Amino acid sequence: MVSANEEQRTEKIPVWDLPDVPSGNLPAHLELQRTRTVCTNDAPIHTENIQYSGAYASMGVDNSMRFEKFCKNFRVEVIRLGDDEMEFDMVGIDASLANAFRRILISELPTMAIENVLVANNTSVVQDEVLAHRLGLIPLKVDPRLFNYKSENDQPSEKNTIVFKLHSRCEKKSSRINVKSSELKWLPGGSEFALSTEKPTQDSTSKVKTYTSFTCSQDSLPEFSSNPIAPTHDDITLAVLGPGQEIELEAHAVKGMGKTHAKWSPVATAWYRMLPEVILLQEIEDEKAEELIKKCPVNVFDIEDIGKGRKRATVARPRSCTLCRECIRGDDWDKLVALQRVKDHFIFTIESTGALPPDVLFTEAVKILEDKCERVITEMS
Ligand code: SF4
Repeated sequence: MVSANEEQRTEKIPVWDLPDVPSGNLPAHLELQRTRTVCTNDAPIHTENIQYSGAYASMGVDNSMRFEKFCKNFRVEVIRLGDDEMEFDMVGIDASLANAFRRILISELPTMAIENVLVANNTSVVQDEVLAHRLGLIPLKVDPRLFNYKSENDQPSEKNTIVFKLHSRCEKKSSRINVKSSELKWLPGGSEFALSTEKPTQDSTSKVKTYTSFTCSQDSLPEFSSNPIAPTHDDITLAVLGPGQEIELEAHAVKGMGKTHAKWSPVATAWYRMLPEVILLQEIEDEKAEELIKKCPVNVFDIEDIGKGRKRATVARPRSCTLCRECIRGDDWDKLVALQRVKDHFIFTIESTGALPPDVLFTEAVKILEDKCERVITEMS
């Protein structure tokens, strides 16, 4: 059953004008429901995804998911790519798959993060546990693919552990100092803290046992020789030391995943939104056009001169629309402007913490999803 209001709205909203929207054999109001979420004054409507193959069987329309159709419609278009941030469009995909990528990016892509902290001296006001927590959250610029996971029974080695040293002191008569992440110094040869207080024997071949068992120095490995390991950012404050206070510690980083602890998440955030569509249902001119421009906080609308001193509102930047609904509030504005979202067009944003570039993170996420699918197919066959 379609309400009179909805019929009127459907007639006016051009649902066939985007190249991304595959044409179907459904009536316009059903095609609108199938492909768009419509934002009304009260709440969004048609938010569900109609994936059921027989949803429109009574109309003779096959709504089943076809692999060939998916391959034909699916595309990824990079809009913006920086060192730490990327925005791209994923078109022709279901929300569940877009969300799978988001969740993999947040919680299943490994990184290296500080897990064990050996505190030799801490006379600062920051407790050892708090300091260790702060150290854990510092992003490290190192490719996690070069390391193995370390289980509880594994010895810390050059293949599964990165060691940093921090030694900072505020002299008695000086003013307070900030201890920054730049003071974490990489120890490519492993831990320098002796495992026991026993002195080594006179035998010149015996070495003092430390908390790690590295067989070689990490900086002799080709992957690190020209690429020393360090925190991604130098200016993260770890503690403030007053006169006479000191911190001396070793921090051991291991490989892990965000689902264990957020410190291993390689992204500051990964999120998506559906492509907004802003449609003018009637010509909006002169004072009304000026009023519309003022309503939008993100400048979606522009004004064009149509001659003889008259002006007309246009939709100039629909992608910026945040769906705040200011432009459809009050005085029948919802009869002049329609707000929609395209259900299968996602604007995806990845903000990396700096360990890996965002485009590499996404390709790694695709590989993980592929592995998962292969596992399911193997188990089912
Ligand atoms: S919903 Fe908000 S952001 Fe979008 S066009 Fe209207 S006023 Fe602008």
